[in-house]
Amino acid sequence: MSKKKKSLAIIGGGSAAIMLASEIDTKKFDVTIYERNQALGRKFLVAGKGGFNLTHSTPIDEMKKKYVASPPILNSLNSFSNEDFIKWLKKEGIDTFVGSSKRIFPVKPTKPIQVLQAFTDRIKENNINVKFSHVWKGFNDSALIFETRDGSVEHNPDIVVFALGGASWKKTGSEGEWLSYFEEKGVKTVPFQASNCGVAITWKEKFAKSNEGQPLKSISVSCGDLSKKGDVIITRLGLEGSAVYALSPAIREEIKNEGEATIFIDLKPTTKTEAILRKLESPKKKNSWSVHLIWQLKLSKPMFELVKRSCTKDEFLDPNFIAKHIKQIPLQVTGFDEIDKAISTVGGIDLDEIDSNFELKNLPNHYVIGEMLNWDAPTGGYLLQGCMSMGNMLSNNL
Ligand SMILES: Cc1cc2nc3c(=O)[nH]c(=O)nc-3n(C[C@H](O)[C@H](O)[C@H](O)COP(=O)(O)OP(=O)(O)OC[C@H]3O[C@@H](n4cnc5c(N)ncnc54)[C@H](O)[C@@H]3O)c2cc1C
Repeated sequence: MSKKKKSLAIIGGGSAAIMLASEIDTKKFDVTIYERNQALGRKFLVAGKGGFNLTHSTPIDEMKKKYVASPPILNSLNSFSNEDFIKWLKKEGIDTFVGSSKRIFPVKPTKPIQVLQAFTDRIKENNINVKFSHVWKGFNDSALIFETRDGSVEHNPDIVVFALGGASWKKTGSEGEWLSYFEEKGVKTVPFQASNCGVAITWKEKFAKSNEGQPLKSISVSCGDLSKKGDVIITRLGLEGSAVYALSPAIREEIKNEGEATIFIDLKPTTKTEAILRKLESPKKKNSWSVHLIWQLKLSKPMFELVKRSCTKDEFLDPNFIAKHIKQIPLQVTGFDEIDKAISTVGGIDLDEIDSNFELKNLPNHYVIGEMLNWDAPTGGYLLQGCMSMGNMLSNNL
């Protein structure tokens, strides 16, 4: 007589879940995804709209250094690396290319929906049941409670994998409302906070008004030990863009300890201070000091105004001061933009609560993967890679 298959419920049908469901052995398990929306992968599609950055081309050991995470997550990156993910996508008919920033994108004209379709086709082929409009509402003893269109239902599967996502872009379904359900079961959680998101800076009113929406291009931004080259956009609130998003862990830590964080802008990351000084000391002819500065250092209007408004008049007129200042303009960060606007969140299930295979230590046969765990990584493909790696590793280890 053949052995009865175990029932396995995946709660949440986002990025981590679709990889798990694509690869799980359905000869061993009867698998059902329970998803609150009427479609899978809503946030995956949102990521697609903003330039679909599936992973990164850096060797995996280098890539791992960018994660603030615990061993199970880091091990999953070895178990299913960026190269493995690229091969996986190719096998499913999605070709990729390396962009100028070493990020990996689907080749044009592949649309985000086609990448999602590759997953949903694979899930169908793998005989996974999907129940839409099922909102998980917590536990009733060992049973899972769901709110459905036909009222409340309970299920008691043998194995449960939670893949509920973080707590930003709530309209995609990742509402992060479930922290208390786990707390009630004795599972420690951490309040959600924004990551990879704009920062608040108290600009001088005149500067914000005339430079809102303007980019600062090819600069470098640093905070604590972290530093990132790239572009940022000046906003009414402060700054946005990948160069500042990447500093999220350091900014968060400094704000926690000091109440504010200082970030430093290097407007000329490829030019040394001495070279800047030489340019500033070159004959100014009939030009004003401001015009000399702009021409010699090829400063855009917002760059020039940032320099001028971040020092005193005497400092501004001193070439020695300016040569150093241009490479290290300090800005006080008072906080992050609203959590719902963040590309990702930290917080969720405390990493001490899971074992080396993502199983909750206090709740056997219950696993947690994806952004709902308290880890952090920059944008640039690191987030999706992390979720895919966790989903894939768990599919092999169940
Ligand atoms: C604007 C934007 C752009 C991004 N761009 C990129 C990018 O280019 N590259 C990159 O690597 N990453 C990017 N990301 C991040 C990436 O999309 C996420 O980190 C990733 O999708 C998280 O996967 P997940 O499976 O953990 O959660 P999600 O994909 O959020 O999935 C969680 C699922 O659980 C469901 N759910 C939640 N609560 C319940 C409940 N109570 N009951 C039932 N179902 C529930 C949700 O509806 C959702 O479908 C971007 C994110 C955003 C917002």
